[in-house]
Amino acid sequence: MRQNRFMPDFGSQAQLRDLQLKGLQWTVNHAYNGSALYREKLSQANVRPESIRSLDDLRRLPFTTADDLRDGYPFPLVSVPLDRIVRIHASSGTTGNKKVLCYTQKDIDDWAHLFARCFEMAQLTREDRVQIAVGYGLWTAGAGFQLGCEKFGAMAIPVGPGNMEMQCRFLVDFQSTVVCCTASMGLLLAEEVNRRGLKERINLKKMIFGSERSSQAMRARMRELLAIEHMFDIPGMTELYGPGMGLDCVHHCGIHYWADYYILETIDPQTLQPTPEGEIGEMVVTSLRKEGVPLIRYRTRDLTRLLPGPCPCGSALPRHDRLLGRTDDMIIFRGVNIYPRHIDRIISGTQGLGCEFQIVLDRGKDGRDYMTVTVERDQNVEASQNETLSRNMGAQIKHSILVSAEVRVVDYGSLPRSEGKTKRVIDNRD
Ligand code: ZN
Repeated sequence: MRQNRFMPDFGSQAQLRDLQLKGLQWTVNHAYNGSALYREKLSQANVRPESIRSLDDLRRLPFTTADDLRDGYPFPLVSVPLDRIVRIHASSGTTGNKKVLCYTQKDIDDWAHLFARCFEMAQLTREDRVQIAVGYGLWTAGAGFQLGCEKFGAMAIPVGPGNMEMQCRFLVDFQSTVVCCTASMGLLLAEEVNRRGLKERINLKKMIFGSERSSQAMRARMRELLAIEHMFDIPGMTELYGPGMGLDCVHHCGIHYWADYYILETIDPQTLQPTPEGEIGEMVVTSLRKEGVPLIRYRTRDLTRLLPGPCPCGSALPRHDRLLGRTDDMIIFRGVNIYPRHIDRIISGTQGLGCEFQIVLDRGKDGRDYMTVTVERDQNVEASQNETLSRNMGAQIKHSILVSAEVRVVDYGSLPRSEGKTKRVIDNRD
C-alpha cells in the first residue's frame, strides 16, 4: 500500500524554476529585513531584495560560510524575533564555537515533511519498523529521523547508536525492517549479526546511511552479510534543517534532492566560479522557505556533482552524485588532486581486498611526498596472496590516479573501526 503523500506537485522543470525564483525572492527579502548581518552582507554586494528578478541573479549574491555562523555565536543569522524560535540544534564541530541553528515551528514542520519524503522515496510503507540507530540530542540526526518516521507513519524504534547487543536483540524481537545508522556502524552491526548467526531470524530489508560517506566495498560486505534489498544514502547538514535533504531512489543512480526547498549549485572551491553540470565541485546551498536561519549561497565544503538527464524512476526531482568527500579531505599529492573515494573505488574493484583502508602521507628526506595505502585483505583470502594483491592495487592506483603509492596489505580486522566517522587519511607532511 504505497501513496504519494510527500512528493512535490510541480510537473515540469519550468514550474520548478518558477517555484525556485519565488523562494529565492522571499528568502533574500526575509534575510535582508530580518538579520542585520545578512543586510550588511547583501548591501556590500549591492543587492537589494527587489533586485532579484531571475534565477541568474543568484550569482550576484554573496557566499555565506561556516565562519559567519561561528562568528555570530550563539544565535547566528537568525532572521525572525527569538520568541518565534521553538528549537535549536548544533553541529558537532570539535574546535571553537559550535554552529547553532534556530528553527521556527514552520521550519520543524517543513523538515518533518522533507524527511517523510525520504522514507517515501525509499518506498517504505506504514507497516515498516524503523530502528533508528543514530545519535539523539543536540545533533540533528536522531531528532530528524524520528520526526520524519512519525510523520510518515511507520513505527519508529529510537535505539540510538552503539550497543550492538541491544541492536541485535531488537532486530530479532521487533523484526525491524529498516535500520538507519552511519555506514561504519552498519558494518559493525552486519558483522555482529553474522557472528551471532542471526541472519535467518531477522527481517531487515533496507538500510539508510546518514552523515558519513559509505564505501562501495563496505556496502558490498553489508549486503552479503545481511542479505538486504536496498541501501540508501541520506545527505543533509544541520545548517540546512539536518539530514533528510534528499535520497537515492530504488534505482540507486544518484541522490534526488529537494529542489523545491533549496537550490544546489556546485562551484570550484578555488575560483568560486560555478562548475558545469556533471563536474565535481563544492556544494553551495540556498534555502527557499527557511524562516529561522535562511541560507544564502552557503558553502558546505562537501564535494559532489550535479547529474544531468532524467532518472529511470521518472521523478522530476533533480539528482546529485553521492558525496565525494570534503573540500578539506582533498589531498594534493605531487600536484595531483586525490579524494579518498578514488582509492575506495579501486579497492572495491580489486578481488581479494576487504573494505577498510588508510592513506598515510609522508615527506621523505629527499623533500618528495610519499603515499602509503594500507588495506585489509578480504576475510577468506590467504596471507600468501598479500604480495600479488599489493602489486595489483599499486598498478591500479598508478593507472587510474597517475601517482605511485606503496600498498601494504594487512590481515582482515586489523585496521581500526569506529561507530562514527572513520579517519582514513593521515597527513604527516607538515
Ligand atoms: Zn530516481
